[in-house]
Amino acid sequence: MGDSTSRSRDLDKLLLRPGNLVGPSFEPGPELRDDLGEYARVLVVGAGGLGCELLKDLALSGFKNLDVIDMDRIEVTNLNRQFLFRLEDVGKPKSEVAAKRVMERVSGVNIVPHFCRIEDKELDFYSDFNIIVLGLDSIEARSYINAVACSFLEYDGDDNPKEETMKPMVDGGTEGFQGHARVILPGLTPCFECTIWLFPPQVKFPLCTLAETPRTAAHCIEYAHLIKWDEVHRGKAFDPDDPEHMQWIYREADKRAKLFGIPGVTYSLTQGVVKNIIPAIASTNAIISAACALETLKIASGCSKTLSNYLTYNGVEGVHIEATEFMRDKDCLVCGPGVLIEIDTTVTLQKFIEILKEHPKLLLSKASVTHRGKNLYMQAPPVLEEMTRSNLSMPLFDLMGKISRDTIHVAGMSSINNMKASSMMKLRVDFKGVGEGVAEMDMAVGA
Ligand SMILES: [Zn+2]
Repeated sequence: MGDSTSRSRDLDKLLLRPGNLVGPSFEPGPELRDDLGEYARVLVVGAGGLGCELLKDLALSGFKNLDVIDMDRIEVTNLNRQFLFRLEDVGKPKSEVAAKRVMERVSGVNIVPHFCRIEDKELDFYSDFNIIVLGLDSIEARSYINAVACSFLEYDGDDNPKEETMKPMVDGGTEGFQGHARVILPGLTPCFECTIWLFPPQVKFPLCTLAETPRTAAHCIEYAHLIKWDEVHRGKAFDPDDPEHMQWIYREADKRAKLFGIPGVTYSLTQGVVKNIIPAIASTNAIISAACALETLKIASGCSKTLSNYLTYNGVEGVHIEATEFMRDKDCLVCGPGVLIEIDTTVTLQKFIEILKEHPKLLLSKASVTHRGKNLYMQAPPVLEEMTRSNLSMPLFDLMGKISRDTIHVAGMSSINNMKASSMMKLRVDFKGVGEGVAEMDMAVGA
């Protein structure tokens, strides 16, 4: 691998010299490079196609303290693009193998793997990192990490975000030949939830189109899958993992396509449509990961202004890259100052949890409640539930230390837009008729 001097040669050009594009806090010099390696802690969420690339890119960009969290084990079908894994690794946890492989190849880097669900970690775990980099393929997981990172954000008395409480995120995503990289500075740039409309729910084709006016190969496949199968195999469930079932769908789709003169039905497309598989492409992952690693380096070092704030890459027809500046949603429940809830000082924790369930902006059931890192009530695990149960009958005002207004965090199941999802929210609780404590509270937060 050569010595570290040659490895940091390109990095040095960015970190040892001033420039026109540097950020306001940039102080070039060898100390910056060394501090970056020594003190910056970066968490990579996901050790799949993007995660493998991210760990390698970050390690080669001078970061020496990395953690990676992933709940999956390696499968044979991962091996074409998740390049840190070998055939003999199949069945092993992705996070552990990925960490080991990068440490073997890049000396001086320490990567701590976490083989678990992202929800299994306490908030404290996430608060330890300077930057969180996301290499995920699910909206739910992104939404969760986003809520965690935004939960650390505090606002001052004038509703301005406090910079020292900001937990920057860099989010990458790929789908076939397309991808995005974005920088989320909670309180400054839109968080994942501010722009949730960028990820519309998966649209299924209307049944009438499938039955009457198919126009694409996918329409023909879905017709065979959703309509014809039931017509012919009354009561027999379709099994997407049974090759005979899949062959049958393919033959029926092909017949229908010929009837309507539609080209393009193949066996692999049939599998893709039925199982809703979007092909993963190694080079897309590499391009998006490179953009994410560079943004992470820029945030950590200030060596250049960060992307503002959403990069899209499209390699479907030619190559197209564009940066779009999205705006924050000022009323965002996740990165905003928090929904204000006014209650009496007599309201018990139990009653408060019921209020959350009925509040039209929240609709949060099974809420766990945390105040300044202290668990007031936890729905799970059973040990914590038992330990915190006695708080339910106590007034929230007492539990929060009898201050007039403060931020609390709640986690539970939200059913906004009729979609049930685990959700974390920040609330501002204001106790009616208690005004004097405000100054006292602000001092406590500032201390
Ligand atoms: Zn937001």
